[in-house]
Amino acid sequence: MRRKVIAGNWKMNKDIQETVTLVNEIKERLNGFNKNVEVVICPPFVSLVVACGLIKGTMIKLGAQNMYHQNDGAFTGEVSARMLKAIGCEYVILGHSERRQYFKETNEFINLKVKQALANNLTPIICVGETLEERESGVTDQIVSTQVKGVLAGLTQNDIEKIVLAYEPVWAIGTGKTATNEQANQVHKLIRKLVAQLYSWALAEKLIIQYGGSVNQQNAFELLSQSDIDGALVGGACLKADSFVSIIGAAGEVG
Ligand code: PEP
Repeated sequence: MRRKVIAGNWKMNKDIQETVTLVNEIKERLNGFNKNVEVVICPPFVSLVVACGLIKGTMIKLGAQNMYHQNDGAFTGEVSARMLKAIGCEYVILGHSERRQYFKETNEFINLKVKQALANNLTPIICVGETLEERESGVTDQIVSTQVKGVLAGLTQNDIEKIVLAYEPVWAIGTGKTATNEQANQVHKLIRKLVAQLYSWALAEKLIIQYGGSVNQQNAFELLSQSDIDGALVGGACLKADSFVSIIGAAGEVG
């Protein structure tokens, strides 16, 4: 059975002091929680070192929200996988729709980052998902398939065992509109089938595919109960300890 992975994408929210407060609140609420759920927090770069110190000895893992695809060099303003690993990150979110939309990241560029993350033993959480226009034009399957093939290009079987995919319909991110359980599960099944065709069913069955898009404490249990939804990438609801830990609790209940 696949484990559930709940990751909080803090985006550009919380300064250092607010990070300390939120991490401590999450820790407090998770105290004694002993279900098999992988919990990841992804604060902004400047808070990663502090967050890493605070989560030592807990079940919480650390992730970054982005990285560059070179390890060092003259790339002003960028941060590398090697640097993230060195400060205790285990995960990195790649290809989030906000990066695709505002920073024009392409599948090819995201693919370079995925390879570099894996080379540095970081688990990439790779995001894919269609816009509202694409869904309404009936091309969701095509768009998501192209994205999955693009971001996974050149990866080995061994690499696929080390990644997490996140299906995040763009129209559901930060909008309060969630995909229905059926809509989400249908795309998760499509992704799993595609990975089976590209690699094998054995590998596809092990692949963690998170859902993201307005997940909250009210809808988490239903979404996480779907056959092919293996966790959640949470934006807005991860910024409050109560809602984030409720979602983790829902994942624990589903098992
Ligand atoms: C996200 O940013 O990945 C996300 C899913 O945001 P929200 O939960 O706010 O829709």
